[in-house]
Amino acid sequence: MNQTSETVVIIGGAVIGSFVAFFLRKEGFSGSIKVVERDSTYQFSSTALSAASIRTQFGCPFNIGMSLFSAQVFKDIKQWFGEDADIGFEERGYLILGSPEHADSQRNNALMQIGHGAQVDILDPAGARQRFPWLNVEDVGIGTFGTANEGWFDAWALLQCVRREARRLGVEYVQGEATGFTTAGDKVSAVKLAAGQTLACDWCVNAAGAAGGKVAGWLDIQLPVEPRKRTVFHIKAPLAGTGFPMLFDNSGMWIRPEGDGFICGIAPEPARDAEASDDFEPDHYLLEETLWPLLAHRIPAMEQLRVQRAWAGHYEVNLLDHNGVVGAHPTLGNFIFATGFSGHGVMHSPATGRAVAELITHGRYRSLDLSPLGYERIAARRPIVESVVY
Ligand SMILES: Cc1cc2nc3c(=O)[nH]c(=O)nc-3n(C[C@H](O)[C@H](O)[C@H](O)COP(=O)(O)OP(=O)(O)OC[C@H]3O[C@@H](n4cnc5c(N)ncnc54)[C@H](O)[C@@H]3O)c2cc1C
Repeated sequence: MNQTSETVVIIGGAVIGSFVAFFLRKEGFSGSIKVVERDSTYQFSSTALSAASIRTQFGCPFNIGMSLFSAQVFKDIKQWFGEDADIGFEERGYLILGSPEHADSQRNNALMQIGHGAQVDILDPAGARQRFPWLNVEDVGIGTFGTANEGWFDAWALLQCVRREARRLGVEYVQGEATGFTTAGDKVSAVKLAAGQTLACDWCVNAAGAAGGKVAGWLDIQLPVEPRKRTVFHIKAPLAGTGFPMLFDNSGMWIRPEGDGFICGIAPEPARDAEASDDFEPDHYLLEETLWPLLAHRIPAMEQLRVQRAWAGHYEVNLLDHNGVVGAHPTLGNFIFATGFSGHGVMHSPATGRAVAELITHGRYRSLDLSPLGYERIAARRPIVESVVY
């Protein structure tokens, strides 16, 4: 146990903030941990609105490493959070389809992923069709299928598990909205709340999700993380979900089973992807104009789909490179970033929580080096190229 009287204040108490708090205790941090959350119902949090899927198929080795750790936590959920913990992890793989032009690069990427511990089968179009007979593979050049550590789970249940355990370990959740900071020299000394309260801190973690850029802005820190709306459609179709993976199509659409139907989505074109602010209205036009034709092309049975409902949530998009921003600010050294995951933050929440906790408790990363995700690249406008982004 690292005996300390220090206080960590975490802004944002959804899945990333809660995993930071939880792992601080696991790493032996004995000081005070306060998690400031403005909405204890989490109804607008990305966590509650996400598609809650996990993949190991990434272009950057650190992203693969993060997913492998998270998948292990998901598989061992009862060991981490008790016998009644259940996040319904369905380890059913991602099938990523590539066009003929991208077949070579996707194959090389898969070989790299395998070299970093991922379990991926490389399929030619006929092989993909044999394994998934409902597929139309006429314009497909390659399929890569994760045979382990990929699938989906219940993000809400995960949040409840980690939050409950963090509380049991003495983490305090403070209901309130952070609105600013007090600084002293090169440190953040307190977090101000809307109700007038101030919370003194030795460390402050920005886990505010899509509001991460706004929160950093209170310190005049440029963090290009903005809310961008993503719509999810829950559909039914005359096709069984049995044996169906999470499918990422070369067109950009995705679909996976959910209950007795499927959920699916596609990003809007850039010209219609403005900062979302408080807009949570589903973009219904996407289904008619884009998604349905693509679904029906790839999976002919989807011609007869029926929409059950739709919802929209916010991706916390890092406009520089669609990767998370993790680690201390270079000059304001006790201000720690844990945001900007741009659509893969739930799957990377355990690994992020552990990394930030190591940084605060031990002064360095011990298990997985996340220094490539540091703020330095943002300041230098030096993007990390992650080739597998959706
Ligand atoms: C439609 C959709 C599909 C997605 N699919 C996936 C997927 O399949 N796999 C995956 O890994 N990820 C997915 N994501 C992304 C994922 O949901 C996010 O990366 C992840 O939830 C980020 O977690 P977070 O805790 O940082 O953010 P959030 O869950 O948004 O939590 C941030 C919290 O901070 C609080 N907050 C913000 N500002 C303040 C303030 N000033 N004071 C106090 N509290 C504040 C908010 O109330 C909120 O609860 C998806 C997202 C969407 C929208």
